[in-house]
Amino acid sequence: MSTTLRGIAAAPGIAVAPAWRYEAQPADRGRDELGLDDAIAAATAQLNGLVDRLTAAGRPAEAGILEAQIMMANDPELVAEARRRMSAGEPTSTAVSRAGAAAAAQLAALDDELLSARAADVRDVVARVARSARGEVGPQLARRSIVVAEDLPPSVTAELDSALLAGVVLGGGSRTAHAAILSRALGIPAVVGVEGVPAAVPDGVALAIDGDRGEVLLEPDASELVALERRRHASEARSIADRELSGQPLCTRDGHRITLAANIGHPEEAAAALAAGAEAIGLFRTEFLFMGRPSAPGEVVQAAAYASVLELMGERPVVIRLLDVGGDKAIGYLDLPAEANPFLGMRAMRLARRNPELVLAQLRAILRAGERTGRQPWIMAPMIGDLQDVALFRELASRAAEQSPRAPHPRLGVMIEIPSAALLAESIAREVDFFSIGTNDLTQYALAVDRTNPELGPWQDPLHPGVTRLIQLAATAAAAAGIPVAACGEMAGDPAGAAVLIGLGVDELSMGAASFAAVKRALGAVDHERLRQLARDCLAAPSARRARDAADSVLRDGRAA
Ligand code: PEP
Ligand code: MG
Repeated sequence: MSTTLRGIAAAPGIAVAPAWRYEAQPADRGRDELGLDDAIAAATAQLNGLVDRLTAAGRPAEAGILEAQIMMANDPELVAEARRRMSAGEPTSTAVSRAGAAAAAQLAALDDELLSARAADVRDVVARVARSARGEVGPQLARRSIVVAEDLPPSVTAELDSALLAGVVLGGGSRTAHAAILSRALGIPAVVGVEGVPAAVPDGVALAIDGDRGEVLLEPDASELVALERRRHASEARSIADRELSGQPLCTRDGHRITLAANIGHPEEAAAALAAGAEAIGLFRTEFLFMGRPSAPGEVVQAAAYASVLELMGERPVVIRLLDVGGDKAIGYLDLPAEANPFLGMRAMRLARRNPELVLAQLRAILRAGERTGRQPWIMAPMIGDLQDVALFRELASRAAEQSPRAPHPRLGVMIEIPSAALLAESIAREVDFFSIGTNDLTQYALAVDRTNPELGPWQDPLHPGVTRLIQLAATAAAAAGIPVAACGEMAGDPAGAAVLIGLGVDELSMGAASFAAVKRALGAVDHERLRQLARDCLAAPSARRARDAADSVLRDGRAA
């Protein structure tokens, strides 16, 4: 039996190979061969080469990480600090390392997950400049290996020969660390946040890692290797089939096109969504920016997060949803009152009446991101109940636009997730540019079932005719007003739910990218008219159970055909 270490499953897949311990090289060794300008130029050239490689491989998001490092290497403040140290007698490599360490420490101390994670990027790029000053080349693998480290800088992950890089095991990191994102993008299995790593893994020891389960096996025995091999075959077959589908559009068997969009809860998820074939970001939840911190994030921090997604998605629409807190998402600094029924309480747009500056700052940050990237943002208000809520949203949006006159004109849309909004959809549709149906809350409120209570599972089905009739009202109103209507609740990523939504006239499905392949397979096997008939059957069904049976039977017939 091997020793098994557990960590976070950061990039899927299974790898078996000897361990190769990566250690960032100490900065103060040896004599320098290059001056500061030449060392920066050499590091910039190396990074440009990697950017070209990643861009050519269709990896623009990962290339962007390294482009940002080029800017860091040439940052005037960093260069000035390094020069100051050099004029005090420090050699180039020492001066640049120490200047970078100070800048990284400042970033790491920030109470902002996104920015403090960039400290690792600064350390990495500075190490590269220091290496260049010493005339050294980067780390190289001599044979196929699993790289084991405390942290693996993104540029090193990109630079290691991908034919020899079998897997990655890190002591530090999270699923959103750059090493994890790059590993996923490059298709390299990775397990991160493993306690005792790298100390517990000697260089050269036989290793097996399971990036789906987050397991690392030291010196696996024969029976473990056989079991792993079986899992590897199954996982590879699944991902090959999914990858083949990623380049194909979402459409019914007879060619009715549906826009396939992704839900993201963090900017770092956008790259994977794009790689999986997302044609838009249909729901960018922004709560991550506001939670787990002592005060609201500033506009600059917010704008950077929004701009990174707008930039990455290019011409593709990005729907940024205004802060939706309250309910099960509490935020200490907002000083919200304790409520008996927080889901029915002071949440989402209602907060804008209490605290308009919070929403105005977010709107300005989104517009600023639009201005910086030259992209038109789509802004979506959650928890709209009636025309008065719409009027407040529009008024705040126009106040923010007056304060940001150079920003591109945004599209303004609303979530249809309170039953009253579905009932009033006809008049609301005349006031906005798009709808997105939040089936999670719509189901909760229409059926009076708490979405967080697992015991209520059997009552939580959005295929209930009481919910599908509300969806139909929204879809019909949107079509009459000539505006697009999406669905972004979990129903959209459930093949049976997706089938009914398309039958009801929804134009776009937005879901976690992991659901893309299953929904494409299911809808691609059925004709559009069959889905319209299914929707009619569901609207007339006596219960959610019967509606779901009808949907399952249509999908079964599709698979069998
Ligand atoms: C919804 O309610 O369906 C939705 C997509 O929003 P959230 O799950 O964030 O409430
Ligand atoms: Mg909701």
